[in-house]
This record gives sequence, structure tokens and C-alpha cells, in this order.
Amino acid sequence: MATIIDGTVIAEKILSKVKVSFDEFKGRSLPEPKLVSSLVGYGEEGQIYVNAQKRAADKIGVNFEVKDLSKKIDTEMLLEIVRHYNNDDTVTAVIIQQPLPGHIDNDEVISTLSPCKDAEGIHPYNLGRIFRREADIVPCTPGAVMKILTEMEVDLYGKNVVIIGHSPIVGKPLSLMMLNEFATTSVCHIGTYKSGEIQNYSRKADILVVAVGKPALVNADWIKDGAFVIDVGINNLNGKVVGDVDFDGVKNKVSAITPVPGGVGPVTVAILMRNVLRAYRNQHGKIQK
Ligand code: NAD
Repeated sequence: MATIIDGTVIAEKILSKVKVSFDEFKGRSLPEPKLVSSLVGYGEEGQIYVNAQKRAADKIGVNFEVKDLSKKIDTEMLLEIVRHYNNDDTVTAVIIQQPLPGHIDNDEVISTLSPCKDAEGIHPYNLGRIFRREADIVPCTPGAVMKILTEMEVDLYGKNVVIIGHSPIVGKPLSLMMLNEFATTSVCHIGTYKSGEIQNYSRKADILVVAVGKPALVNADWIKDGAFVIDVGINNLNGKVVGDVDFDGVKNKVSAITPVPGGVGPVTVAILMRNVLRAYRNQHGKIQK
């Protein structure tokens, strides 16, 4: 019988630790922590993320502000706003909700945000620190996957890890984090799928992480008996939120699996809040115990 991993429990654990750490700063003459979430021309979908971010920020006592920007804004205007946040001592960290509209230079916006205020851990400096095995502020979803594995006491040393999806915010940084733990890591993507090779990789995985965005792409045929499966995908299928893995079809074959919803998603938001704490510490000094 597979373990169904409850991401909400792991998330609550992270959030309570983060709150305790923030509480230790209270009573000092320091600015209150504040997280700004900027949305450029987002609709209902963006609102769902923002609500989850606000709930988590409220839990740990971090002020939360939404900057709702028109989708007509251009790159230069957005850069001005980002520079303003960089110089505003009352702002601890900033989320630049992805994806930005196509006419905006995403890379320039992300690189302009101070790496010290990079709530999502996607600034090139913070990504580069993973390469050097000195990660501090980390990309949230890869951070969540690693945290789930730690919480479940999975030893990665020498394990076969297969990651399906190589995006800059999930698969690529996660592959480096896995390598840093001495997992033998393979990264698959659309090219692997089209070459017909993908199942030759996925079937070897002790730990399979799927981050594609295609409902039920991965079924029982793709998976080795007893594999540990982490489903990052979030898809809307006929009004229902589902992952990239055929959950019902694989749950009797795997040793553990994250459900969607309620798996990686809540842990991702908790890691975002841990990043805000790390940003605050970096800006206001570590507590001496
Ligand atoms: P993306 O579109 O940037 O990247 C998709 C990846 O999947 C690419 O590497 C692409 O080559 C690969 N791919 C596409 N079709 C494939 C196929 N048939 N076989 C194998 N690989 C294929 O996506 P992303 O931003 O990394 O997000 C991936 C999924 O994860 C989405 O469903 C997204 O909503 C979800 N997501 C969830 C969280 C969370 O907190 N749970 C966070 C980020 C993204």
C-alpha cells in the first residue's frame, strides 16, 4: 500500500518553524517583514496563487501586499517598479508572478530584482549558488521536492532519480539539487518523449519527479514497482485539478506518491515563506543565540 504524502502537513511544519524564527526578531528596532506579490495582467488563476500566498504570509506574521499591474505595462515601467522595491527598506521580498506577458523581457526583470529580495529564488545569482552547493534562497518548487524527500527520510545517495520536465523554475534547478545529494540524475523532456525513449528512463527511476503540465501523462507502464513518485503538475481537467501522473492507475504500484492537489503545491508556498525569512535574515542580520 503506497504512502500518500500529505503536503499540507509538511507545509504546516515548515510554516511553524518559519514563524518561530520571525518571532525571534520581534521587539528589535527592525522594519516589519513585508512580501510584495506583483501580478501583471493576471486573471482568476493568478488570484488563486495570491490567496494561497496571503494565507501563508498571515500565518507567519508577514505583511502581504498585492501589486496588481495592467498587462499594458511595458518592460521599462516594470523595471522601474522593481528598482523601487530594491531600494525600499520596508520591502523584504518580491514575487514576480510568472509567466509575464510575452512583450515583457522576463529575464531582464528577474535579473534586475535584487537577489536579496528574490522570494521565488529565480534570480541568476541564487540559481548559481545551487551550482556551488551553497543554496540559501532557492526556487520554491525544487525546494519543496527536496523538502518532501527529507521529510520522508529518503536517502538520495546513489539513487536513480528521473525528472521529467526541464524548465528553468522546476526541472533544471532540481536536477542540480539532486546531483548535489549524489543522486544519479536523468532529466527528460519533450525531446526524450518524441524520441520514444522516455519510458526507458522513467522505468529505471527509484524516484520519479514529473513536472510537465499534461494530465495523466505518466501511467503505470512508465513506473518501476516501488518507485517514489512526486507529481509537480497542476492541470485543470474538466474543472478538476489533476497532476501529470495517473494517480489511481499507479497508486498500487508505487511506494509513495504526492497527490494533486495537496502534495507539492502547499509545500511550494511554505518554501516561498522560508525564502522570505532567509531574505529578512540576510537583510537584518542573523539572530545570535
Ligand atoms: P514548462 O512548460 O516551463 O515546462 C514543461 C516541461 O515539460 C519542458 O521541459 C518540456 O520539454 C516538457 N514536456 C512537455 N511535453 C512533454 C512530454 N510529452 N513528455 C515529456 N516532457 C514533456 O512547465 P513548468 O513551469 O515547469 O510547469 C510544469 C508543471 O508543473 C505545470 O503543470 C505547472 O502548473 C506545474 N507547476 C506546479 C508547481 C507547484 O507548486 N506544484 C510549481 C510550478 C509549476
